[in-house]
Amino acid sequence: MNCHEATALTAAYHDGELGPAQSLALEQHLVGCADCAARRAELDALHSRLRKETPYHAAPGALRERIIAMLPVVAPSGAGSGGQRWRWLSAGAFAGAAATVFAWVLGTALLESRDVDALAAEAVSDHVRATLGKRQIEVASSDQHTVKPWLSSQLDFSPPVKDQAADGFTLLGARLDYLDRHPVATLVYRYRQHGVDVFVRPATRASRPTPPTTVRGFNVSHAIGTGMEWWAVSDASPDVLAAFVERLAHDDAR
Ligand SMILES: [Zn+2]
Repeated sequence: MNCHEATALTAAYHDGELGPAQSLALEQHLVGCADCAARRAELDALHSRLRKETPYHAAPGALRERIIAMLPVVAPSGAGSGGQRWRWLSAGAFAGAAATVFAWVLGTALLESRDVDALAAEAVSDHVRATLGKRQIEVASSDQHTVKPWLSSQLDFSPPVKDQAADGFTLLGARLDYLDRHPVATLVYRYRQHGVDVFVRPATRASRPTPPTTVRGFNVSHAIGTGMEWWAVSDASPDVLAAFVERLAHDDAR
């Protein structure tokens, strides 16, 4: 068995749908192939997360009846009881497949929203910790030409640093924080009497726009632009914060 075949059969193996000969061949391949074994481990992990984190509901009898009624009667070898049995089998397969797809979609949505919520909560924790502690600013300067080189020297990316004083946001400086176990640039602004932290990290393929949220009374706004992901945290009003983070992410002129 080669990797191509193993990949194609791993999901079926996982669901117990392979015969003994194919199972054995796949198991032998998995013993000798780290890539395929890793893929199988990922599938195991996803499976157990779905089991743990998504609710399971048995289909009500009426729904089951409706689905079965919708299915055409397929008779592989003429009419009669065989046809009836085939119909029941295909109904079961259809319901099983639908449930699997539904669980997958629901599970993916749950995991994603959980990740986003976790990120917003982490950003707020960073903000609160910095505000309460003495470590709010590591490079104190309102000059973007001082702040940007300092950040570039600390990080493996170079976040845009923009002065937004014309809009009432005064750049105070920057520091480093961690989000999702990776170092991020934190730009520190002041807007009227509000402290504003803006966490910046490179955007990835997984980055997607996230609606504003509130965590422990702090507003969190998110934007993607200039190749970066931007999270702004403040007790300033949500609409002010959302407009600000959008300008930071998109206004390349400044
Ligand atoms: Zn392989």
